[in-house]
Amino acid sequence: RMSSISKASVKGFLKRNLFVLFTIAAVALGIILGFALRPYNLSLREIKYFSFPGELLMRIYPIVVFSISSLDSKASGKMGLHAVVYYMVTTVIAVFIGIVIVVIIQPGKGSRDSPVANGGNIEPVQATDAFLDLIRNMFPPNLVEACFIQYKTVYKKTVHTRNVTVTLNLTDSLNVTDPALSTNLSAVLHTIQETVEEVVPVSGSSGGVNALGLVVFSMCFGLVIGNMKQQGQALREFFDCLNEAIMRLVAIIIWYAPVGILFLIAGKIVEMKDLAEVGGQLGMYTVSVIVGLLIHGLFVLPMLYFLVTRKNPYSFIGGLLQALITALGTSSSSATLPITFRCLEENNHVDKRVTRFVLPVGATINMDGTALYEAVAAIFIAQVNGMELNFGQILTISITATAASIGAAGIPQAGLVTMVIVLTSVGLPTEDITLIIAVDWFLDRLRTTTNVLGDSLGAGIVEHLSRKELQNQDAEVRNCVIEEN
Ligand code: ASP
Repeated sequence: RMSSISKASVKGFLKRNLFVLFTIAAVALGIILGFALRPYNLSLREIKYFSFPGELLMRIYPIVVFSISSLDSKASGKMGLHAVVYYMVTTVIAVFIGIVIVVIIQPGKGSRDSPVANGGNIEPVQATDAFLDLIRNMFPPNLVEACFIQYKTVYKKTVHTRNVTVTLNLTDSLNVTDPALSTNLSAVLHTIQETVEEVVPVSGSSGGVNALGLVVFSMCFGLVIGNMKQQGQALREFFDCLNEAIMRLVAIIIWYAPVGILFLIAGKIVEMKDLAEVGGQLGMYTVSVIVGLLIHGLFVLPMLYFLVTRKNPYSFIGGLLQALITALGTSSSSATLPITFRCLEENNHVDKRVTRFVLPVGATINMDGTALYEAVAAIFIAQVNGMELNFGQILTISITATAASIGAAGIPQAGLVTMVIVLTSVGLPTEDITLIIAVDWFLDRLRTTTNVLGDSLGAGIVEHLSRKELQNQDAEVRNCVIEEN
């Protein structure tokens, strides 16, 4: 009997560490392969083909989102409250750290390094409309829409010329970086000698999964069926079953992760510009973001975990290694989600009822790294423009950076898109996003890793705070079983 136990534990140990080992080997191989291929000057198309196995990895995540519909009625309210308080507190702390760092380091001081692309006549999305989009996305009219439609405001401009009226669809601000488009548009507007009547916000769909909407829907739905007592039994069992099936699927799929990571990293290394060229203001900006993320991820969050649970945060983080490397490799909290589940449940033994409740929500709305980065970037852009921010403006940046991090999807560079909310709220030029694009792919990886770390430590903290409810529920289940017998 003894030998069978030790055999099983050795096997388990090997399996766990084999997986981490695979992931580390994938990163190392990816780096080697990437640098080996660099001298060949592959075209963008060739690089895209080459990193296809990585692209596949990024496509697996949407299935996990549905798993949160299965909630337990009593524990869920408490757990939800703890989670939301944790998310808010840590995000605000992250923003605060970012602001302090960027104000101390002042990476944007001095005259500006690089010219900015001309924004032309394209209308940047206004803060109010971006906020409304955030709320729209939280309340999709139905579940099917949530799966396919994400709202995004664009502007229509009504233009009168001689005796015709033309309505132009103006693209959103990110296209500002396309100089061809903006010059064309201004050329057209110029030749027809327009008189602008009115600019109207039109909320259209931008396609893509609306993770925020799915999460809000699933939470509400889960709470309702959780409270349905006997009547809801069938649905609860159905979702538990579905949940279990999805998790089994995920357990198989994640073995593919190291392969994907290898190709993602190699592809990025082949593609990237010489990092040595990034100097001056942009270099200091990069340093500011990194310092902020390190302080938040390696000091503040672990301290908080220790204060609440009295357990060693760094051994907890040790169990997360594989999820953190995957976040670094994929730049996506959502794509990392399956691995985060595995690390928390198998290595750190966090209760499944907690992970399945808080992780999908966390990966969608809790993004400390993104919030910190948005605040630093906005203040950096203000510094580059020689703009002095007053206290009110800094407060506005903190609030909008928090909102922007909630609104950002857990996919690569989503934070760059929601930056618009932060910039427009204090009147900074949205074209200046082009200033930071060169280093964003790199910072994205680091902030995603911080995001995943925040979600995971949060699961540990929520489990600790909800232990009474969880125990009560265990007791109830035991009683039920006894009664049935
Ligand atoms: N890539 C980040 C994430 O998935 C979001 C962001 O762009 O900040 O967590």
